[in-house]
Amino acid sequence: MSALSGTVASAGYAEGPLFRLDRESVAYQSSNDPVTEARRLRDALAGAVIAIGTLIERTDEEGAAILEFQVAMLEDDALSAPAFAAMTAGSDAVSAWTATLNAEVEGYEAADDSYFQARSADLRDIRDRVLRALVGAGDAMPPAGAVLCGNDLTPTQFLSIDWGKGGGIVLTKGSAASHVAMLARARGVPMLVGVGELSAANDDPVLVDAEHGRIVVLPDLAERQAFAEASGRRRAFLELAQSRLKQPAITADAQAINMMVNVAEPAEVEAVDIASCDGVGLMRTEFLFGHGLPDEETQLTAYRKVLDWAGGKPVTIRTVDAGGDKPVAGFTVPETNPFLGLRGIRLSLSRPDIFRVQIRALLRAAVFGDLKVMFPMVSVLTEYRTAADLFADEAKALTAAGVANRMPPLGIMVEVPAVAIDPSPFAGVAFFSIGSNDLTQYVMAAGRDNGAVAALNDVCHPAVQMLIRSVVQFGRRRNIPVSLCGDAGGDPTAIPSLLKSGLRTLSVAPSQLAFAKVAVSEVDTTGSGNGKI
Ligand code: PEP
Ligand code: MG
Repeated sequence: MSALSGTVASAGYAEGPLFRLDRESVAYQSSNDPVTEARRLRDALAGAVIAIGTLIERTDEEGAAILEFQVAMLEDDALSAPAFAAMTAGSDAVSAWTATLNAEVEGYEAADDSYFQARSADLRDIRDRVLRALVGAGDAMPPAGAVLCGNDLTPTQFLSIDWGKGGGIVLTKGSAASHVAMLARARGVPMLVGVGELSAANDDPVLVDAEHGRIVVLPDLAERQAFAEASGRRRAFLELAQSRLKQPAITADAQAINMMVNVAEPAEVEAVDIASCDGVGLMRTEFLFGHGLPDEETQLTAYRKVLDWAGGKPVTIRTVDAGGDKPVAGFTVPETNPFLGLRGIRLSLSRPDIFRVQIRALLRAAVFGDLKVMFPMVSVLTEYRTAADLFADEAKALTAAGVANRMPPLGIMVEVPAVAIDPSPFAGVAFFSIGSNDLTQYVMAAGRDNGAVAALNDVCHPAVQMLIRSVVQFGRRRNIPVSLCGDAGGDPTAIPSLLKSGLRTLSVAPSQLAFAKVAVSEVDTTGSGNGKI
């Protein structure tokens, strides 16, 4: 028996035979003819596009977006150009393609930006799919319920597996910010990353405890029993949480808590019963900018979809928070330190041509429900005022043109320490929403995307908690509604201190809603010992 630890990328328990992803490669027979080699690569690229197209048809919107990104890369002549040049110079198709893609992967991995690092998995996926097509090897499929183990797992590998039969993922490297980790969380597939080298053979029985970050190979009886108990406890907790989903969130001392949801893609709301939440506390709009700059009608349709679903409950839409870890082609600018650069409202104000399109769509959408709008990354009052002036300007123009519109309440994210330390200049805004993800990384000087400083990036640190408490108290004194929409709102270990700081509205990922409600019900806001405060 042997045990290793890793970082939890998606919580849960899995038990099954090990399936190694790093399988033997098949030898390739070169034709020694540049024209034939080039044709083989073209065929392999076309085959890969068709195979991914089949996967797209079988998957949901989120999975399809990832796969479409891969198709776009495969169809991008600039990506394969160095390979075709190498074949003209005498290289065979496999060597040329491998060298070209390895260089690309290295470039992405070396990027400071976690977005590009995480996308390197997509490139490896594309590389291996085309190589398999070139050497004529099929995709070895893991048995149902297997625990997949390798350096990294590709999104297409993930999406081609039927996770309904159980199973888990253990990666020696990997990243909790990768596409595949996002997919695993969305589908509840237990996943550990950064586990290190695992000395285990195919089909060895393994236990994955992706609650405490542990994997056991060839477990003994005592390990099996401990695993069965821990996974049973989690199952019972999941059932309890699900049964409470539709009930209002009330603390042990009878305080009613508003539980809102965070959404990105409008399609996400289809899986959420509006009766289980109090509306949308944060709609991120960056996703709309994922495939170029969206026009007014596209944005209006997306915002309306969420407002229609909400059926009159409040919906807070955030103006685009591009930049930082969310680059948008044609909008964001390359920077050495993007988290401290031109992101959020700073970027929007620097490109009023783009910002005005979103403003018009929001003003028009406001007619269809209880819409509120907030600005991300606000640091100084002038930013809020300039943005509010643009809203007034566009509202006037829409009205003059006879287009129905309504001015929504305008609020700000409190996520820059300057605002949290001294919110007094913002006493006139309609509401505050605390962005604990960014507030924590800026207060602790510990990047939210950097696993090496994950322990420092702690929302329960007294300094962060002190700021949250003081913002809530400021809001109470000045009658400004204050909510929190960072990940901490869905974290059962952070919820007690957040509620004890006076917060009464939390906005969480839909997948965290049930757990968060249970965690809320166990808090006595009058009790002492509130976490690490
Ligand atoms: C936050 O910073 O807490 C937040 C909700 O915004 P984002 O995670 O999109 O930066
Ligand atoms: Mg933020």
